[in-house]
Amino acid sequence: MGGGILGLFAALHLAREGADVAVLERGEPGEWSRAAAGILEFTRFSINRISARGYPASYLRMALRGDARIRAGALGARWVLSYLRAWGREPPSGMWEAVRWLGEYSRSEYRAMAEASNDFEYAEEPLHEVGGDVGAALEEARRDPLSPRVEAGECCGMESLVYLDAARLSTGAFISRILGELRGLGARIVRAAALGVRPASGEVLLEGGRTEGADAVVVAAGYRTRALGVPVAPFKGYGFLTGARARAMFVDLRSGIAVVPLRGRSKLTGRFDLDAGGDHSPALRVLRRGREALGDFAVYEMAVGYRPCTPDGFPVVDRVGSVVVATGACRLGWTYAPALGRLAADLALGRGSPGALGAGRFGPPRGGVLRIGSDIGSEGTLKCGPQPGPPWIPPSTRYTWRA
Ligand SMILES: Cc1cc2nc3c(=O)[nH]c(=O)nc-3n(C[C@H](O)[C@H](O)[C@H](O)COP(=O)(O)OP(=O)(O)OC[C@H]3O[C@@H](n4cnc5c(N)ncnc54)[C@H](O)[C@@H]3O)c2cc1C
Repeated sequence: MGGGILGLFAALHLAREGADVAVLERGEPGEWSRAAAGILEFTRFSINRISARGYPASYLRMALRGDARIRAGALGARWVLSYLRAWGREPPSGMWEAVRWLGEYSRSEYRAMAEASNDFEYAEEPLHEVGGDVGAALEEARRDPLSPRVEAGECCGMESLVYLDAARLSTGAFISRILGELRGLGARIVRAAALGVRPASGEVLLEGGRTEGADAVVVAAGYRTRALGVPVAPFKGYGFLTGARARAMFVDLRSGIAVVPLRGRSKLTGRFDLDAGGDHSPALRVLRRGREALGDFAVYEMAVGYRPCTPDGFPVVDRVGSVVVATGACRLGWTYAPALGRLAADLALGRGSPGALGAGRFGPPRGGVLRIGSDIGSEGTLKCGPQPGPPWIPPSTRYTWRA
């Protein structure tokens, strides 16, 4: 359930092992995941540590500047309580081991897929971070348990922190590639919103009264996986495929934008809004910030995505009642999707154990009857089609125009 990048990788691992797989996706496969910049930071978990002591203050400063917004209802009580417990604390023992493995496995999977055919613009190249305190960042990296390789450098006429273990890909091209592999292995992509699972039979209920029988169900529905009691919040962001010419891959900490050069185009992303609503107008600010950095450019495509973040920023892969859940990768969903999909597939096949990534660290999950449909649409309506948007956006989360 859920054809985002985690669900697609779980399906790929299952299909490679000969399982008969159906991916149930309410919209287009990869609809939310494709918004991502496509930066892979295999050894840099620090960007997910939203429970670090100083994070709330810097997030509030961003919100006061207008570069982030918080919408009522985006956070549930369970998320807030778990956040207060996780705030300023180190993760449980074994977590860093788990995260190191996620990075190593994922890098080797992307490399292997690119070696077989690099039709998704995979490249290992440095990521520049500008607009921050480079000296402090170098010092922090020295203390980082994942030992990221960093150095001081220069980008866009500014001093930068250069992260040397980075890679990048085209999210749109990768989704096409993985869908092709899935279809080649006989997997079905079913366009329908999943409403729930009958625990006794394992049957999945779909909108329109249809059902899908299954021996095992993996729920990778992004932030909507919170319907199972796993605390994940929607940190919304926007991605644009543009005609901008960028010479290097960079993140600007002051304006909150990321830029990834691709063949003849660039990906521009931004915003980290606590917001699951249908108003996408902050996307305009991302474009403005992008044009301040890169000059004027054409925009070919826009996508809206929701980073599913747990209170401690670490992902969850676990059994919850009769299903397996995989979510919570936050800013690093693409980076760790190959490994998280692997873990989810193993659990679905009755192998392995969740270890440090278990949902139990946030208290006992709900389990029993899964009614994900009850959480569909933050306004309480069943929203399976294109998201509504302000008048300047055609009624689709993905569209094409030339500026
Ligand atoms: C602007 C932006 C930039 C980002 N940049 C990066 C980056 O550079 N590198 C990186 O590693 N990560 C990045 N991320 C984070 C990454 O995109 C996410 O972590 C990742 O998309 C999460 O994947 P997911 O499959 O868990 O969930 P999602 O991408 O949220 O996918 C969940 C899917 O489930 C479907 N679904 C939901 N409910 C149902 C239902 N009831 N029935 C059927 N289907 C359902 C949804 O339609 C969706 O397709 C970025 C995110 C954003 C928003």
